[in-house]
Amino acid sequence: MRKLILVAFAVLCAFSAFAKVNVVVTIVPQKFFVEKIAGDKANISVMVPAGSSPHSYEPKPKQMTELSKANIYFSIGETSEHVWLDKFKSMNKKMLIADTTAAIEKIEMAEHHHHDEEAEHDHEHEGEAHEKDPHVWLDPILVMKQAKVIADSLSAADRANAAFYTANYNKFVKELTELDKTIANTLKKAIVRKFMVFHPSWGYFAKRYKLEQISVEIEGKAPKAQELTELIKTAKAQKLKVIFAQPQFSMKDVKTIADETGAKVVVINPLAENWAESLLNTAKTIAGN
Ligand code: ZN
Repeated sequence: MRKLILVAFAVLCAFSAFAKVNVVVTIVPQKFFVEKIAGDKANISVMVPAGSSPHSYEPKPKQMTELSKANIYFSIGETSEHVWLDKFKSMNKKMLIADTTAAIEKIEMAEHHHHDEEAEHDHEHEGEAHEKDPHVWLDPILVMKQAKVIADSLSAADRANAAFYTANYNKFVKELTELDKTIANTLKKAIVRKFMVFHPSWGYFAKRYKLEQISVEIEGKAPKAQELTELIKTAKAQKLKVIFAQPQFSMKDVKTIADETGAKVVVINPLAENWAESLLNTAKTIAGN
């Protein structure tokens, strides 16, 4: 009997040693990154479901329950995150909140402005700061920095497996290096260096590969009639064969531009589950433009 109790105790201890780290991330691509580093040693829940926009998301009550059990929250610096992160902190004081973008210098939102000089001046006088571009997960080189934060935080929360996380991190960095090379090579063939997309998620991607992103959205809103006419003119002048839409946003304006110019609508998902494949497919589509 005593032996049996000892065995049961040993099993329990072994189980707790293999208990998974409970991780919460904001968006789906971050799940891809954490899986690369944590393997099966983490339970990962994603705050913003695949079809929703992270810029205007509010967590569901069930998600708040998950958060109360979390060990680590990996934030990505989304504007809507700030609203709920404070709430999370008070709910779960032991949870580590790691900002995966801490070491990243954010760029200005690349938007299609139609202000003339004077309007731009007025705009500044209103005191509206230009929003920094939050889409840091669409550049493989910047993802290396995010992966480093993920690896370090997992190692801190689960010291027993630190070497495992570090090894996976190193492997992932190699994969990212390869992906970056493949994308760069794919885009070498691109004659048209401009691409038009509804929501300007691809600013860091464009910067990395020397492309120019033209946003259909103007300052976060659907274009007005006059702006739409301008976009159609631009698409015609650039001879764009595809106009990109995203599943999280309306297709209406993209369809209008495509219809008027004879371009094709292609849906690209900045929040895809298979992050690497999605990035490469985007590069291939731009190269074939
Ligand atoms: Zn976005």
